[in-house]
Amino acid sequence: MEIDGLQLVWLGHAGFKIKDNGLVIYIDPFQIEADEKADIILITHDHYDHCSPKDIEKIAKEDTIIVCNEACAKKLSREAKIIKENESTEVLGVIIKAVPAYNTNKEFHPKGYGLGFVIELGGKRIYHAGDTDFIPEMKNLQNIDIALLPVGGTYTMNAEQAVEAAELIKPKIAIPMHYGSIVGSANDAETFKELYSGRAYILKKGE
Ligand code: ZN
Ligand code: ZN
Repeated sequence: MEIDGLQLVWLGHAGFKIKDNGLVIYIDPFQIEADEKADIILITHDHYDHCSPKDIEKIAKEDTIIVCNEACAKKLSREAKIIKENESTEVLGVIIKAVPAYNTNKEFHPKGYGLGFVIELGGKRIYHAGDTDFIPEMKNLQNIDIALLPVGGTYTMNAEQAVEAAELIKPKIAIPMHYGSIVGSANDAETFKELYSGRAYILKKGE
């Protein structure tokens, strides 16, 4: 989809490609086709469905900058810029803030294990929640244009919890993710869209 010149493509699961002004950013590429090369790759955490060296190789060039936490960097054969929770960094004019992402009632993602990201580019603020439940820190997310929220349940929020998160964050546009491959189904995305009072878009893979 395109929003004011910014292009956002869902690659399936938690994977996205964002393009603005010729700059190409990927988040959590997993089971993707070979695609245009990345300027920046952001990885939320080291689980195989998010931190996939094989997929990174499909899109990385020599000077691609990978931003991730330490555990994920250890799994890569390339150098990465390490970022920690609540830190910000600027890469090629893009401001990237790492925000908390964790489970509250399950054990897959203890607090501090993974990250979410707030990415500022082209005058837009995009929130990729990572693998998380609905957490109190979400109230700190202000002026989010696009929120990418997991809805698949089991390892993350389910659709109802993602609606609670979206109602709190109040993004201009909410997009469900983390369904359709490992966990969660298209029904979860539909449920999210139905229950959320704001604007939600369900992206098709590759669009
Ligand atoms: Zn995970
Ligand atoms: Zn996951």
